[in-house]
Amino acid sequence: MSGDVPLAGVIGDPIGHSRSPVLHGYWLRALGLRGAYVPLHVRADDLAQVLEALPKAGFRGVNVTVPHKELALSLAAEVTERARRIGAANTLTFLPGGGFEADNTDGVGFMANLRAGAPGWRPEAGPAVLLGAGGAARAVLDALLDAGVPEVRLANRTRARAEALAEVFGPRVTVRALDAPGLCAGAATVVNATTLGMDGAGGFSLPLDGLEAGALATDLIYAPLDTPFLQAARARGCATVDGLGMLLHQGAPGFARWFGAMPEVTEALREAVLAA
Ligand code: NAP
Repeated sequence: MSGDVPLAGVIGDPIGHSRSPVLHGYWLRALGLRGAYVPLHVRADDLAQVLEALPKAGFRGVNVTVPHKELALSLAAEVTERARRIGAANTLTFLPGGGFEADNTDGVGFMANLRAGAPGWRPEAGPAVLLGAGGAARAVLDALLDAGVPEVRLANRTRARAEALAEVFGPRVTVRALDAPGLCAGAATVVNATTLGMDGAGGFSLPLDGLEAGALATDLIYAPLDTPFLQAARARGCATVDGLGMLLHQGAPGFARWFGAMPEVTEALREAVLAA
């Protein structure tokens, strides 16, 4: 590789589990572009220094993942509106004059996956139930409200966390208990943004009370791909969308900025990432 090959990467601690290098590597090959995308293991104490040095070494930008999403936002020279609303960054682009712009593409990735997996889905069809109030839930909440969902029932184990989000996102968000009677009654959309059902994190035991056939259920978890939550929803007659596409779609805006071409999310890409 010559010195002017565009570089990008993903920063986290740990980073070995990240599928982003497979994702971006696939797109670089599929589009026949020069470039490289690498995993970077960086501790929080070193993040500011690393982000200052990377553009000097040819990096156009980086993704940031756990636990750096909030810290990266606080270090940014420019912040997109949606990253500010979500309170975390996952896509950083270095600026010609120094510093970087922080964006958050988790919400657009979530929505692109939902629309691709359920083309008939309409935001205005009815309330959404959002299980979880962590970092990913915050991006999903922003995307659902931005799309025009009339009400989001937000249910989280730690109620105070859900209440803090409702405070920020306004009156279309109502806080419920995870086991509230009728939590899912009349809901058009139900989203699992908890870690319940993740490989190694135990099963999914929430009652989903009132969930009706005809609702659309989607999980953010993609390992396993067919989660206990999706199975429970299907058993009640719901259509389901798995979480892998969110990971794939959230990567596309960064790739386009850094490598200069908009990539596609295809079945072959899904298979390549699953096989990795
Ligand atoms: P996080 O900030 O750690 O939040 C975890 C959430 O799960 C919190 O709401 C937490 O509730 C809840 N939770 C954990 N254990 C629970 C239990 N035993 N019972 C009930 N609730 C429980 O994590 P995150 O970053 O938001 O990620 C959430 C999930 O989304 C993860 O599985 C992650 O892999 C997935 N994700 C997927 C994508 C994608 O591209 N598909 C992107 C981002 C995240 P408390 O507030 O009470 O702790």
